[in-house]
Amino acid sequence: MNIHEYQAKELLKGFGAPVAKGVAITSADEAEAAARQLPGPLYVVKSQIHAGGRGKGKFKELGPDAKGGVRLAKSVEEAVAHAKEMLGNTLVTAQTGDAGKQVNRLYIEDGADIDRELYLSLLVDRSVGRVAFVVSTEGGMDIEAVAHDTPEKIVTVAIDPLTGVTEADVARISDAYGLQGAAREDGKSLFPALYKAFVEKDMSLLEVNPLIVMTDGHLRVLDAKVSFDGNALFRHEDVKALRDTTEEDAKEIEASKYDLAYVALDGDIGCMVNGAGLAMATMDIIKLYGKEPANFLDVGGGASKEKVTAAFKIITADPNVKGILVNIFGGIMRCDVIAEGVVAAVKDVGLTVPLVVRLEGTNVEKGKAILNESGLAITAADDLDDAAKKIVAAVG
Ligand code: GDP
Ligand code: MG
Repeated sequence: MNIHEYQAKELLKGFGAPVAKGVAITSADEAEAAARQLPGPLYVVKSQIHAGGRGKGKFKELGPDAKGGVRLAKSVEEAVAHAKEMLGNTLVTAQTGDAGKQVNRLYIEDGADIDRELYLSLLVDRSVGRVAFVVSTEGGMDIEAVAHDTPEKIVTVAIDPLTGVTEADVARISDAYGLQGAAREDGKSLFPALYKAFVEKDMSLLEVNPLIVMTDGHLRVLDAKVSFDGNALFRHEDVKALRDTTEEDAKEIEASKYDLAYVALDGDIGCMVNGAGLAMATMDIIKLYGKEPANFLDVGGGASKEKVTAAFKIITADPNVKGILVNIFGGIMRCDVIAEGVVAAVKDVGLTVPLVVRLEGTNVEKGKAILNESGLAITAADDLDDAAKKIVAAVG
């Protein structure tokens, strides 16, 4: 689950991280009062969307010469003018795709005088099984380009979970940045605080790009992007409350209501499978036969008819789907329940694309009978290989 920058900053502030004073607004009428709460003389007006690259982004409605999604202002009046221009318009950045994202919220912030822009992120480094800091002196720009062109400028510092962030770790990070004086002092509390926030809140990514050294020598978190591990959300009511569903894929929201493990993808074969391993194998075999899956979907071990019906509706609602492959191995899951769910969903929403079903396991004969007697145009498959070949052929 992702949150907005202003929410991430509020959260990090609670852990002691230095952030600027700021006010979030959702209408242009609030802009002046918001800006007047800040000291000035520099203000920053920042689009709040769940995507990065806002500074270099372009508003669809404003043409190529207009300013981007993060704007500096030297007066309250200028900040208000920016807010009016930005709110309600569609920002296209390197991360939004061509459709862009509508800006419904702005964060008006006290502007900082920047000396240096650094890169910092915390993530789970699976190669060493630890949470690691990824740091670089080349902040504020496209970190992927730095990683590709000058990988030596990126330093990774993995943290031992038993000790947490040690003085030696802090020194390594500070050395990598070349921090001195006040900034080096700030790092001694900031780096452990960020680690604490990451672990306590079960984050999967914490990216501060840029972390800045200000002209007064101090550090400040200038941008913050936070993702949380969805599997740990049950133990963080405060984090759940930060969710903004208007920023999420509608199909994924619907799936989460039914507790379905669903991830939208770019291909054209919709998949309904039980078990994550079988779902992965199904996606692989579709690719093997030359097509791409439109989604990952695991209906789970003991799915009800309602859950299967919801899953099927989510797949058919995706306009990219040109064919559907249902691949079920019934262990705990019963094949007749799957069959009933598929038939109920098709009767409800209709079936306009080819459907291939492969059932195996508990109550398989009952399941096949339900499908056969339904009168629906379903192609039965004998095994995984047969099923993949048939749906790929049907889609053409
Ligand atoms: P992003 O483009 O979505 O990553 O948004 P950022 O929050 O990282 O802002 C983009 C850029 O705007 C930063 O890299 C800075 O160069 C600039 N910027 C943001 N806030 C300030 C500020 O307070 N003062 C100054 N001088 N520049 C800022
Ligand atoms: Mg940034």
